[in-house]
Amino acid sequence: MPQVALSAKGRIHSYETFAAADGPGVRFLVFLSGCPFRCRYCHNPDTWAAEPAFEASAEEVLAAASRYREYWGAEGGLTLSGGEPMAQAGFAAELFSLAHEQGIGTCLDTAAGVFRRDDADMASLLAETDTVILDIKEMDPSRHKALTGAENASVLDCARYVSENGGKMWIRRVLVPGVTDNPEELAELGRFIRSLRGVERFEILPYHSFGAEKWKRLGLVYSLDGVEAPSQAALDRAYAAVGDVPRRRQK
Ligand code: SF4
Repeated sequence: MPQVALSAKGRIHSYETFAAADGPGVRFLVFLSGCPFRCRYCHNPDTWAAEPAFEASAEEVLAAASRYREYWGAEGGLTLSGGEPMAQAGFAAELFSLAHEQGIGTCLDTAAGVFRRDDADMASLLAETDTVILDIKEMDPSRHKALTGAENASVLDCARYVSENGGKMWIRRVLVPGVTDNPEELAELGRFIRSLRGVERFEILPYHSFGAEKWKRLGLVYSLDGVEAPSQAALDRAYAAVGDVPRRRQK
């Protein structure tokens, strides 16, 4: 296993003490500050800036999380999200390494926009991650760029890296009507998922506009005004287009 180098403090946006949908079981969720993407549907644009609400060491974050340990049961634990937690890979690897020393399960919720397989911190982080939740927002590089501001080579390579190294993955897609619901592209996503090992779950998250007000408060132009949440029929069509993958339907 790669050595975990001691890093600087983490740049933290916020904590959520009882998260039920961000990894197995009940989890303590840590949102890190800073993201290289600018997804049109992002509901946390306040996490984009690298400036944190506060800084904390790995020991301090773990101490904050551990206060809730009795609620986690056998499955739960600690999830890092953001923003983009891979953008602070050294800190995240140190935190997950400490968590594992204490028998705490780790989950990384990432869009992998900064993944590089030759980065030692990244290798350490993924070696200390029990479950990677990977957002694959769009398979086509140029449409991915139109949606997020960047192409997707690092995202797909992260999926391949986790697959090659025996990791466990949940793969997610946010379904935005008219934007990320092209059946041919969803079929390509399904083929890509079937080419991977270690995918335990695929889930489609229905788009919602809950973040729009945050965009407006931050003086940003929200480009999806007027787009409605997908219907159950649209979700069913999307699952059918993806095809046979391990899935979990959203209620
Ligand atoms: S990757 Fe996540 S946090 Fe970053 S812009 Fe996209 S939805 Fe927002």
